[in-house]
Amino acid sequence: MDADWVARFADEVIAEAERRAPGKPVVCASGLSPSGPIHLGNLREVMTPHLVADEIRRRGHECVHIISWDDFDRFRKVPAGVDPSWNEHIGKPLTTVPAPPGSAYPNWAEHFKAPMIAALAEMGVEFQGISQTEMYTSGAYREQVLLAMRERRRIDAILDQYRTKKAKAKEVLDADEAAALEGSGAAGEDDGSGAGGYYPYKPYCSFCDRDLTTVTSYDDETTALSYTCVCGHGETVLLSEHTRGKLVWKVDWPMRWAYEGVVFEPSGVDHSSPGSSFVVGGQIIREVFGGQQPIGPMYAFVGISGMAKMSSSKGGVPTPADALSIMEPALLRWLYARRRPNQSFKISFDQEIQRMYDEWDTLTRKVADGTALPADQSAYRRASSTASATLPETPRRLPYRTLASVVDIATGHEEQALRILRAFDPEIGGLDELRPRLDRARHWVNTYLPAEDRTQVRETPDKELLDTLGETERESLRLLLDGLDDHWSLDGLTTLVYGVPKVLAGLEMDAKAATPELKAAQRAFFALLYRLLVGRDTGPRLPTLLLAVGRDRIRELLDPGRTA
Ligand SMILES: [Zn+2]
Repeated sequence: MDADWVARFADEVIAEAERRAPGKPVVCASGLSPSGPIHLGNLREVMTPHLVADEIRRRGHECVHIISWDDFDRFRKVPAGVDPSWNEHIGKPLTTVPAPPGSAYPNWAEHFKAPMIAALAEMGVEFQGISQTEMYTSGAYREQVLLAMRERRRIDAILDQYRTKKAKAKEVLDADEAAALEGSGAAGEDDGSGAGGYYPYKPYCSFCDRDLTTVTSYDDETTALSYTCVCGHGETVLLSEHTRGKLVWKVDWPMRWAYEGVVFEPSGVDHSSPGSSFVVGGQIIREVFGGQQPIGPMYAFVGISGMAKMSSSKGGVPTPADALSIMEPALLRWLYARRRPNQSFKISFDQEIQRMYDEWDTLTRKVADGTALPADQSAYRRASSTASATLPETPRRLPYRTLASVVDIATGHEEQALRILRAFDPEIGGLDELRPRLDRARHWVNTYLPAEDRTQVRETPDKELLDTLGETERESLRLLLDGLDDHWSLDGLTTLVYGVPKVLAGLEMDAKAATPELKAAQRAFFALLYRLLVGRDTGPRLPTLLLAVGRDRIRELLDPGRTA
């Protein structure tokens, strides 16, 4: 019954783990670089293995989800908005670069890890964070580093196959690699090659702490490694003791697969193309580290819509925390669970979020009454709970679009909001029952709804417009006003606003009719109401708007006056 993509990967991963390391916990992995704000687009790097790991745990297997923090990587460039004096730190490990001004964190990497860790906790993602700074500087990878250096010629030869076969691929290096090349002092050393020979280990200079170093010699017997740095410093260290350096990315990644025994680690399109790190890594782990490459599906790009109009206080980079400020964790989880990793999708910060929420609510109802399709049920279950926890739920769920409309109209007046919302659900005891969804909708309205789309109920009647109305329009307004008291509910007002044009056409108020003429008359009537109530041609759904405006105000704004 659970034949969705998550279940299928879980089957495969469990079988593979039992073959590779029987009786040991299954290891799934993700890698994140805290080189700046961690983009919402990177969340798929975590969610794909999370969902698979969670399914494995649900089946009663022990499973570890590792998140490798690439915090021992070099600081590549100073992002917009940060003091240019940070330029002096380019080339240092992210954990020794000072945090941006005003930060509560001890260094650059910790500053950008923290919000991601908080977001993952909110989303119920259980993981074991591994700091690459701690691993390298503690000497945990000592044997692997020495092995890679001993096998440097073999590694160079493997890389060379791709260099020659894929000479062109160098031109399409992923952005990070390109940035590494561009910012580096030693030319062409992204994979460890340099004028003095091939060395997969790159020391940080013990004088300036930057990686603008070139290894000039290495002795396999003594592990003596000599390097020079652009700052003028040069020295010889023993690699059997040295811990201030790291393997180059294309060797580092397969080394960690072997070290941690990773069985599942997906990667983005940029790492999965021919000649890319994942492909090369597969050969390096087999031939050098004596391990096997993880099962590693390629995941597609996750797009973001509706951020263009955002102020770029944070450089316009949407983070998972931004997404969680407008949607509940379960909904965000669902966006990942429902799509196979190779399907791209969008996370919406624009009006589209309302439709996304409608779909989620429809699915919730179908799951409750047992009519959801099996794959949809699985996605719902993965979104709303994990093996160990249930994600927080809003006790009383009103449609997101309703909450957004009401918050928009009531602009911060809690009492007014509660009064309007009770028209949707008279059982509402207090606003707390509508949280956290209500708070998410409020934040969305206040932050992402463009000013021109906000609803401003008119203070005074639009006399000018009212004076130009023809007799049919006046009659339609009178019919509406006369019907208010009898229809003062969501359903009632829906019947009324659609019904007024029917009555004018000689039909019953609740007649089932949908001729093109009637539809046109309804559209014209709605536009008139919007004009008179909010001064625009569109707005929140009319029944909601009418309830929000209140009967007295409606009578004031829509009074057509005496027949001319
Ligand atoms: Zn130096």
